[in-house]
Amino acid sequence: MAKALVSACLVGCACRFDGRDKRAAALLDALARAGVEAVPFCPEEAGGLGTPRPPATLVGGDGEAVLDGHATVVAEGGRDVTAQFVEGARLAVERARSEGCDIAYLKERSPSCGCAQVHTNEGVRRGSGVTAALLRRNGIPTVSVD
Ligand code: SF4
Repeated sequence: MAKALVSACLVGCACRFDGRDKRAAALLDALARAGVEAVPFCPEEAGGLGTPRPPATLVGGDGEAVLDGHATVVAEGGRDVTAQFVEGARLAVERARSEGCDIAYLKERSPSCGCAQVHTNEGVRRGSGVTAALLRRNGIPTVSVD
């Protein structure tokens, strides 16, 4: 059976910063019809951030810039959580590889999972989240789910 990494909140896990989920029934139905198993993964929880947690934004660039060391991730209140975001991204790649996922469906606008738009300290901007960027750098295509 084919497998896809899926943002855990889209699968129904209550892992968002506010302790809620973002279940995407249409996506889950489409994957099931196509015979694709969803492998839920939340990079922010995996990186060591608890739930609920203060919302975080990208500062100085998007996830690509974070991976290049040119931007950071800062939580509301001022805590620098860049290391946790990068670790979560690394673990996402590890999980995708260990599960044999050849694609990832990710929640749009998240500073981790956003594929085309992300929350920054200047509002929502074009760009990738940290996990989306690292998955793509490792040859795993990402699909935005909104
Ligand atoms: Fe969902 Fe990704 Fe945010 Fe986790 S980090 S709650 S999987 S969007």
